Amino acid sequence: MVRVSSWGRLDAHEHELAPLLDRTRVAAQVRGGQGLVQGNARSYGDVCLNPGGRLWRSTSLDRFIAFDPASGRLRCEAGVLLRDIQRMSLAHGWLLPVTPGTQLVTVGGAIANDVHGKNHHLLGSFGDHVLGLSLARTDGSVIECGPDRQPGWFAATVGGMGLTGVIVEAELQLRRVAGPWLVTDTVPFRDLDEFFALADGSEAGWEQTVSWVDCLSGIGRGLFFRANPANIPERAARPSGRAHRVPFVPPVSLVNGLSLRAFNETYFRLNQLKAGRTLAHFEKYTYPLDNLHDWNRMYGPRGFYQYQSVVPREVGRYAVGAMLEAIKASGQGSFLAVLKTFGDRPSRGMMSFPRPGVTLALDFPNRGAATARLFERLDAIVREAGGRIYAAKDARMPRELFESGYPRLAEFLQYRDPGISSAMSRRLIGS
Ligand SMILES: Cc1cc2nc3c(=O)[nH]c(=O)nc-3n(C[C@H](O)[C@H](O)[C@H](O)COP(=O)(O)OP(=O)(O)OC[C@H]3O[C@@H](n4cnc5c(N)ncnc54)[C@H](O)[C@@H]3O)c2cc1C
Repeated sequence: MVRVSSWGRLDAHEHELAPLLDRTRVAAQVRGGQGLVQGNARSYGDVCLNPGGRLWRSTSLDRFIAFDPASGRLRCEAGVLLRDIQRMSLAHGWLLPVTPGTQLVTVGGAIANDVHGKNHHLLGSFGDHVLGLSLARTDGSVIECGPDRQPGWFAATVGGMGLTGVIVEAELQLRRVAGPWLVTDTVPFRDLDEFFALADGSEAGWEQTVSWVDCLSGIGRGLFFRANPANIPERAARPSGRAHRVPFVPPVSLVNGLSLRAFNETYFRLNQLKAGRTLAHFEKYTYPLDNLHDWNRMYGPRGFYQYQSVVPREVGRYAVGAMLEAIKASGQGSFLAVLKTFGDRPSRGMMSFPRPGVTLALDFPNRGAATARLFERLDAIVREAGGRIYAAKDARMPRELFESGYPRLAEFLQYRDPGISSAMSRRLIGS
């Protein structure tokens, strides 16, 4: 047994590790078993944990199977990292259409959480670009599914939190690009009204939009970042700069009221001065934290939570404003505070998180009861707004909020693999 924690480092639990090494043997390996598959453990909470039980680790299933540089179709094993796909495919003029804020996640993990990126308003979520996948179930069956093949299995598995079976391999449609460069633009905003005006005005002309919000200002001031691919045909470029590491876990969180206030003020002012257009390498711009290894140690031995919600656009101004006020009043939060509008495109997955509306994501150092009280307040706002919380980031949402936020839950449960369960499924589904 080995102690394993997820990205939030809230707890480390004993698990029996069972690496998946050979895609032709996965079906035999999981047949009759009880467990959960884990990718690169970049989920913040308990969706990728199975305390006291088995973890089938997929990171050794890291081979490309077939790539057609003419069509941009890639078939690969489920443990391949998005970074490795992009570094291979860029040389041929292709990149993944949708990636999250880190590319150190596996294809299986990206499908199982149906991850989204900064371009949701144009390109939807990861599952929109999956052409097919093969799923090994603990009853010994292997299901080949896709949007047009066994679509029920596909819709349950995209965003299905690993609970429908083990994704062994997948076929993805990549997207043509001229090269790695982006034209970026930074616009400071003073409050939420300005944020929504910028979002409305940018979605048609900019492929990527996302904002940093000063969670201690209460009024929602922040920085609006937007970007488009630059038409510079250079395919080999790697980003400049060295990677760094947070070398150890400090005895207390380095993120506290004092450091946060100083950081937010400086960050806002510096970017206000630098506002405007520039050229950036997509890796540096899109995955800024991937070069700071183990940054999650910064929050000290008690770890941290991420709280990510989405609320409908009609009530977005009010609900986000209320959440920011509650956060300011609590004096908690971190500099990782992200605000983004989602597009109207419906997600393919029954349990996918993205829905039309506005999403707010914030990290919070774990301060025990004080943090729990703040989350109760935020839950009440999300509930009243008719919103939902993102499972990939969650370690504590109440079951009734999960049930009200995901209205296709009963349909999804028909596809559940009875041999698979996670700490999250036991907490939110009861098994
Ligand atoms: C810095 C950072 C930024 C992030 N930004 C974003 C963002 O912008 N948007 C976003 O959507 N998410 C974001 N995330 C969350 C992250 O993208 C997801 O949690 C992702 O699913 C993690 O993938 P993983 O390979 O680490 O999977 P894990 O975290 O190990 O597992 C995630 C889920 O996938 C299941 N799973 C994994 N592999 C398989 C498989 N082969 N078959 C079936 N199920 C499987 C697991 O059982 C689990 O339920 C971010 C995370 C970090 C750390």
